[in-house]
Amino acid sequence: MGQIVKLSPALVNQIAAGEVIERPASVVKELVENSLDARATRVDITLARGGMELVQVVDDGCGIAPEDLPLALTSHATSKLRRAEDLARIRTLGFRGEALASIASVAQVHLASRPRNQQQGAEVSTAGGEPEEVIRQKVRPWSGPVGTRVEVRHLFYNAPVRRKFLRSVQTELSQATAAVMRLALAYPQVHFTLKHGQRVIYDLPPEEKWLARIEALFGTQVAEQLLWVEASRGPVRIWGYVGTPELNRPNARMQFLFVNHRPVRDRSLGHALNEAYRGLLLTGRYPVCFLHLEMPPEMVDVNVHPTKHEVRFQDGSRVYSQLLGALRDRFLGTDLQARVRLPEPSPPAAPGKSELQFVDWAKAQLCQAKHSSPPAELTESLGPNPFVLTPESSAESGPSGPLSAPDAHKEEEKPLPASSAPSSDRTEKPQLGATEELPRAIQVHNRYLIVEEEQGIVVIDQHALHERVLYEQLKAKVSQGPLATQRLLVPVVLELSPQEATVVGANRALLEHLGFQVQEFGPHSVALHSHPALLSADRVEDSFRALVDRLSQMTPTPGAEAVLDPLLHTLACKAAVKAGDPLTPEEIQSLLRQRHLAQNTHHCPHGRPTALLLTKEELDRQFLRT
Ligand code: ADP
Ligand code: MG
Repeated sequence: MGQIVKLSPALVNQIAAGEVIERPASVVKELVENSLDARATRVDITLARGGMELVQVVDDGCGIAPEDLPLALTSHATSKLRRAEDLARIRTLGFRGEALASIASVAQVHLASRPRNQQQGAEVSTAGGEPEEVIRQKVRPWSGPVGTRVEVRHLFYNAPVRRKFLRSVQTELSQATAAVMRLALAYPQVHFTLKHGQRVIYDLPPEEKWLARIEALFGTQVAEQLLWVEASRGPVRIWGYVGTPELNRPNARMQFLFVNHRPVRDRSLGHALNEAYRGLLLTGRYPVCFLHLEMPPEMVDVNVHPTKHEVRFQDGSRVYSQLLGALRDRFLGTDLQARVRLPEPSPPAAPGKSELQFVDWAKAQLCQAKHSSPPAELTESLGPNPFVLTPESSAESGPSGPLSAPDAHKEEEKPLPASSAPSSDRTEKPQLGATEELPRAIQVHNRYLIVEEEQGIVVIDQHALHERVLYEQLKAKVSQGPLATQRLLVPVVLELSPQEATVVGANRALLEHLGFQVQEFGPHSVALHSHPALLSADRVEDSFRALVDRLSQMTPTPGAEAVLDPLLHTLACKAAVKAGDPLTPEEIQSLLRQRHLAQNTHHCPHGRPTALLLTKEELDRQFLRT
């Protein structure tokens, strides 16, 4: 191995640069953060070849004194930190004093700056991590405008291995653009421009309103579907925008989180977000959010990682529950009912070209009457039912077990309204029309309910709605104590796999809270002595197995609620009427009544909508009445 030698400071810096400077986007981030720390009101960024050839950042901030230029380029030199205690209350984006030095060790840097109150500034060029004394020799007077200008050329010119890891111009450019976007989001009052060569990517004028900056970056459609949220608990304040469930994405990239105006990623808060949207989004879809967290700097450690992308909260679970609570409250007070949007009806002048619409269908009928054979494309396109707009709404209605006879579980469906109904005597016999006008409703295909409402026609998925209603009621009840149980005269004995038996053993108290009294019965069997009262006898085994299944799949998650929630979903799904169950008029009315009693019934716990609204306006539009 040879002799141990001390590395030269230049090499130390180059190695350390690996932690901070990964690619052009890191350079952009560090330089723009410096501009923002210098209280710039305008930041102009220019890139060439995705930033690999050039990253230039020009700002109108406070500037650097000529005698400080060499220091700014030297590692562990900063104007933002003096004592160890300062680390606990950092209010600037930078503080480690190593970004410029790192960049200068792996690129060619030209730094020019003029402080606000001085007639003249200074400039200097350096490359490959020269020592401070060498840089100092090269400082020259500079008479540019107030502010700082940094040019970084040929990143990794002296580090071929690092250079090999750079991707295409397109990829590097999009990463760099994303870095600018995050900071532009965090600082709406600052004017940002971003150019790639001659092409202008962003020109973002200063905004007073955050929403205006969001709109400038992501468009009107996104901005229009955002809900304002705000919640303060003690010194911690959460505020910003979250998307309606309809504004969802296939990944989490449209989730922006800022802690004390620093863009960060945080797994646990991402989890809280998913938790809040649970039941509102389909699996694999992610909500959109723009959220600020503000708290005293000593409550959050930003010095976890050199790039400062991650932070550590003093009390993470408190922040978690505050965020979850804020979002839940917001959703409960909002009309999230899915509205049916049909494609625009085609103008009468262009018949039969587009895909099937009501108008075309009507024309095809006419056509058929006039000439004996309509155009082939029209007859073919008669297939799809234009009402089936949201495929999810008709797709699998939960794991439907063997169809039980409808009257086998009628009794158990009924006791539902009790917990949330305002007066209990009313629930005994349904007083139709006495205090409340119930809407007209019919069941079709033993699966959907068609309801006439003030706003239009509502199509309800009976299973999805009942499941949602049951879920809400279970959730309310389970927080007050164990669920009501039904004792079994003859215990049900179930064979379990060794793994399932372990899961049952470990969660006995939880299962009992949910109404299942379990006793060990032989090495791999358990005896059930009771079941939740809302389950009919024929669904006990199936439901219990489904719960055990859910429990075995669970990875450790924070908070008891996170464990309980999926179990309640499972239970609700098992207890609800199935698609295919015929319902009596009384059952239909009972279900509809609960729809208004239960909160948050727009989506079933799996995230499928429970109801689709076809508004009167939409109908008029489609029938060309407007
Ligand atoms: P840090 O930001 O962690 O202090 P940097 O290496 O990024 O470390 O910058 C070193 C120092 O150079 C900063 O502390 C600051 O004093 C000065 N500086 C860098 N960029 C600018 C700028 N755009 N405007 C004013 N001062 C700057
Ligand atoms: Mg910095």
